[in-house]
Amino acid sequence: MPVVKSVAILGSTGSIGCSALEIVRLHRDKVRVVSLAAGRNRELLLRQICEFEPQLVSVTSREDARWLQQHTSIPVYWGPQGLSEVVAHPSVELVLAAMVGSAGLAPVMQAIELGRDIALANKEILVAGGELVMAKARQQGVQLLPVDSEHSAIMQSLKGHSAREVARIILTASGGSFRDWSAQELAEATIDDALNHPNWSMGQKITIDSATMMNKGLELIEARWLFDVDPNMLEVIIHPESIVHSMVEYVDGSVIAQMGVPDMKAPIAYALFHPRRYPVDVPALRWAEVATLNFSQPDLAKYPCLALAQDVMCQKGSAAVIMNGANEIAVSCFLRGEIPFSRICAMVEQTLQHHQPHHLESVEHILELDQWSRQRALELAKE
Ligand code: NAD
Ligand code: MG
Repeated sequence: MPVVKSVAILGSTGSIGCSALEIVRLHRDKVRVVSLAAGRNRELLLRQICEFEPQLVSVTSREDARWLQQHTSIPVYWGPQGLSEVVAHPSVELVLAAMVGSAGLAPVMQAIELGRDIALANKEILVAGGELVMAKARQQGVQLLPVDSEHSAIMQSLKGHSAREVARIILTASGGSFRDWSAQELAEATIDDALNHPNWSMGQKITIDSATMMNKGLELIEARWLFDVDPNMLEVIIHPESIVHSMVEYVDGSVIAQMGVPDMKAPIAYALFHPRRYPVDVPALRWAEVATLNFSQPDLAKYPCLALAQDVMCQKGSAAVIMNGANEIAVSCFLRGEIPFSRICAMVEQTLQHHQPHHLESVEHILELDQWSRQRALELAKE
């Protein structure tokens, strides 16, 4: 008989959250939902409460919490305190972090302090707080299991080998919505163009990050902390088919890659069930239909956000906090139609120019820097 794992999901109404619940639906004898946190989609959260019967839930606003409380008998919390209740419920063994942005840092840090294992989709947490988060996870003996497909692939490709045997870690990138666009066409890109990702169906923020390739930059920093590797061992290669999810090159020249169709249910299931594997509703790879796999170097002139993030990865920790906060603001300004696509990178770069990189001391310190960079980026957006 498999053991039933009790999970909390932060961001249950999002793309990753919904895919995770599809897996729960298939494997009710192995995973049980204890608590859910969502942002503003109260109708969907209500349907999830009815179907998955959690012990408690949380939403962003007090108003939505009141509305939900009229429709359910379980406790409904709201705001940062609500997120804290969701991870702190005594039955929670694993927290799936699937919110967007640095807002996930505090609840995940709390979950680690409470000894919960973490399935981590919310990459901005490691970008902003990687060093502190990993140190706390080691101290508490908790497992940090990546959900991001690249990092799941790397983890799977590293199995059975020691750090000394690794020569390079190569992250694949689809190239996002604009991989076939010229720099000239890019200047006129609309919101709909940017949201039209060729291979993956994801939340809006990560889809825009994929179009700028800031997503790959964030993933480099995520990998640096998750696998405790020197930044110069990490490389990015464009792979338009998104079949090879990432690879590890060993000192003897062998390369181990993890492959599959691009469907997030596979890495989510790997993190939820680790170290076991169970069937998920993901189509098999049809090799003859795939036929060819292509690889090319990313053009850093076309993707300045990737170059910026590569640079930031080699600086002291605060630079990544500033880059991440400014990027979150720049992406939301773009999605509201307030700035053109090309201004996203410029805004992040300008925010960084006002900052002197230094060492990070605490979560409070990170949150202060995060606030500062958001404020600064907002001011820049108005100029
Ligand atoms: P999404 O926008 O679809 O969903 C985000 C979820 O978080 C929603 O449920 C939203 O309501 C909730 N949320 C947002 N702010 C909140 C807050 N303050 N309090 C409580 N809930 C809040 O995003 P997504 O695409 O599912 O991505 C989630 C994370 O996973 C991101 O960090 C993303 O980079 C990462 N990720 C996503 C994918 C993917 O395929 N979608 C792949 C790899 C990594
Ligand atoms: Mg990824």
